Amino acid sequence: MGISRKVNKAVFLDRDGVINELIYNEAGGEFEPPHRTEDIKIISGVPEALDKLTQNGFELFIISNQPDHAKGKTSLESLMLVRNKFMEILNIDREIIKEDYYCFHHPEGVTEGFSFNCECRKPNTLSVDTAVSKYGIDRNSSWMIGDRETDIECGINSRLKTILIKNKYNTYPGRVKPDHKASDLTSAAEIILNKKH
Ligand SMILES: [Mg+2]
Ligand SMILES: [Zn+2]
Repeated sequence: MGISRKVNKAVFLDRDGVINELIYNEAGGEFEPPHRTEDIKIISGVPEALDKLTQNGFELFIISNQPDHAKGKTSLESLMLVRNKFMEILNIDREIIKEDYYCFHHPEGVTEGFSFNCECRKPNTLSVDTAVSKYGIDRNSSWMIGDRETDIECGINSRLKTILIKNKYNTYPGRVKPDHKASDLTSAAEIILNKKH
């Protein structure tokens, strides 16, 4: 007779470019995260992929850097409205995202109180560490999924397995290697669920 021990496994998800499309800003010539709730566009297949992960016993967390208030591009209120709307959309039927952790800081920001080197901005691990200790997450059974190198670095720094989503929003400098690459969250979920852990 073995001793059964429940293992709490988790998937830590970057938000922009993984869960939602980014918005092209013509003036700046770059892709930006949504600053208004009406600009939230969930990538096709994402709700189903999240559902599958939770059905297979993974706790899901969003870990997101949102520096645009620190950079003076939008208000904190707007970013909070967008954040709340994401939880409303994704958790519409039942709890899919357990908790969301946001960093609103930036080391070179222009907004007082938000412009410094913090511990919660990926690739730093404060947000992951907070969730791990709050929910007793087993790092060895858990994953980080993101579309930027900082996401993969955060996953590595947090001792998680990592999946890089390759999309049109980012180039990948390649300083560090993800464990896997996928074209979207649907494929990333398949990688996670097809493995024996
Ligand atoms: Mg991203
Ligand atoms: Zn921060």
